[in-house]
Amino acid sequence: MITGKHWTTDTPGYDEERLGFQRREPHRPAHIVGATTPEDVQRAVRYAGEHGLTIAVKASGHGHGTPLDGGLLITTTRLNRVTVDAQNRTAWVQAGATWQQVIEASAPHGLAPLSGSFPGVTAVPYTLGGGLGLMARRYGFATDHVRRIEVVTLDGELRKAEDDPDLFWALRGGGGNFGIVTAMEIDLFPVPILHGGSLYYDLATTPGVLQAWRDWTRTVPDSVTSAVAVLPFPNIKQIPAALRGKYIAQIQLSIIPDGLDAPALVSNLRGALGEPLVDTVGDLPFSESGRIFDEPGRPDAFSSRNALLSDLDPEALASIPKLAGPGAAVMCVVGIRHLGGALSQKPAVENAIGHRDAQYSLTVLSPGEDDLRAVHDEILAPWSKDAIGRSLNFSMGPLTDDELRYAFEPADHDRLRWLRGVYDPHGLLQANHPIN
Ligand SMILES: Cc1cc2nc3c(=O)[nH]c(=O)nc-3n(C[C@H](O)[C@H](O)[C@H](O)COP(=O)(O)OP(=O)(O)OC[C@H]3O[C@@H](n4cnc5c(N)ncnc54)[C@H](O)[C@@H]3O)c2cc1C
Repeated sequence: MITGKHWTTDTPGYDEERLGFQRREPHRPAHIVGATTPEDVQRAVRYAGEHGLTIAVKASGHGHGTPLDGGLLITTTRLNRVTVDAQNRTAWVQAGATWQQVIEASAPHGLAPLSGSFPGVTAVPYTLGGGLGLMARRYGFATDHVRRIEVVTLDGELRKAEDDPDLFWALRGGGGNFGIVTAMEIDLFPVPILHGGSLYYDLATTPGVLQAWRDWTRTVPDSVTSAVAVLPFPNIKQIPAALRGKYIAQIQLSIIPDGLDAPALVSNLRGALGEPLVDTVGDLPFSESGRIFDEPGRPDAFSSRNALLSDLDPEALASIPKLAGPGAAVMCVVGIRHLGGALSQKPAVENAIGHRDAQYSLTVLSPGEDDLRAVHDEILAPWSKDAIGRSLNFSMGPLTDDELRYAFEPADHDRLRWLRGVYDPHGLLQANHPIN
């Protein structure tokens, strides 16, 4: 028996329910269950098991990858309660809560989660894939700060993953391959205010901007997490006049100000580069942290490929405008994030995240339905010398088994494959990045 809301292909609302933020190759399930309780998830899993239906899970759909054809889709957007324990600095977060909801529940206590650049992303799937956030260099991956996980395994049982060291290890970094998480307990941090925002430079008039940012990242303390996005802005009136029609490097800064002269650190960067075209940097309440990257919130079709790098090679940096600039075959956004700091340290309770020695993450992303793997691989080719792995969260689109293996340390990948067989012996669950 199925409980919770239920759709089949001819039920009104089917399309709204199956679609999410990512519109490329959407799910086409035979059944959708809109879970409102963990018991709804249990019943959906048992129903799928009895009828031999493949299961997929969707929250806000930012990380949608492998589409489900037939089968049963569990949507979690209604399972979205957030409960903050201010004294213990933790939050109990249900599977469908977005970071915005977690941030809003935490802010009245002067606390903040390890959320990322876009607050509309769902906290649980982000964390299952690692979670590289605005305070990453200071506190590490979001998944390093998970205390408890409630999960429905493929036998329909509701379990406490922390009681099973293998399951707890695999869920933290191995993505949605081992069960349907209904909630998790995460750490919160006493960070009410960030010093952050973006500095926008025109690459035509400030060609040294990427190199200057690279040099600056080598000087900053762990309380500074920063990134740069390189992208052509269209020449349309919706874009601020100063950026319209230009090839822009947007330096994105997120600084935890405690004990630091954050404005002085940013001045060092401005000093090296001159005045930006647009400058949004200043003190902002954590609840407005989405303004730092200021990413578009409109659902779209897109794909991306990622490389984790031990260094940022100056020659490869210089190749970005040539290979991914306005002359490229398709629009490309190259995003580079500065890693290191606490991201390099293993957490107290180990998890499946590897490649912790990576110093930068580089992603190339393009809008559209097409398979752009060849275009993206050409842009990533100059970085191959320093590439040591890939991030699951920043790989939007299907990966081959070998490509997926590269997201993990080899021994960890072997262990994840083995655990897949243990927790999903009949291969019922299809994650966005399936471990086969
Ligand atoms: C604009 C944008 C900004 C982003 N910024 C960041 C960032 O700063 N840092 C970062 O690390 N990542 C970032 N990401 C990547 C993001 O964290 C992943 O794509 C994540 O998977 C998105 O979760 P979702 O709920 O939005 O996506 P969904 O597509 O709903 O879920 C993604 C996958 O997670 C699995 N899943 C979902 N819910 C469950 C569950 N309850 N139990 C088991 N498995 C489940 C499923 O396999 C599903 O296909 C960003 C993505 C976008 C599009």
